Amino acid sequence: MSAIKERAGGELGVKYGMKLRRDYVRLKSQRKQPMRCPSCGKHVVMDRIAAGIWRCPKCGYTFTGSAFSPRPYSQVISA
Ligand SMILES: [Zn+2]
Repeated sequence: MSAIKERAGGELGVKYGMKLRRDYVRLKSQRKQPMRCPSCGKHVVMDRIAAGIWRCPKCGYTFTGSAFSPRPYSQVISA
């Protein structure tokens, strides 16, 4: 099929514009990055409960982060 489908974010096809597709790929990869749990200290991929609300799958500790990443917003934009 078309080349755009094979690129990162290609599941969006030609829709939404280049900038949005690029942001989508960046945020999707950040969501899957493991981070250290503030409670139990384990290095795990956090579960997203709602926008800005994250839970540790190991200990069940619930905490706030940014909407699309469990890290605080200040860390997300500097990374
Ligand atoms: Zn934990």
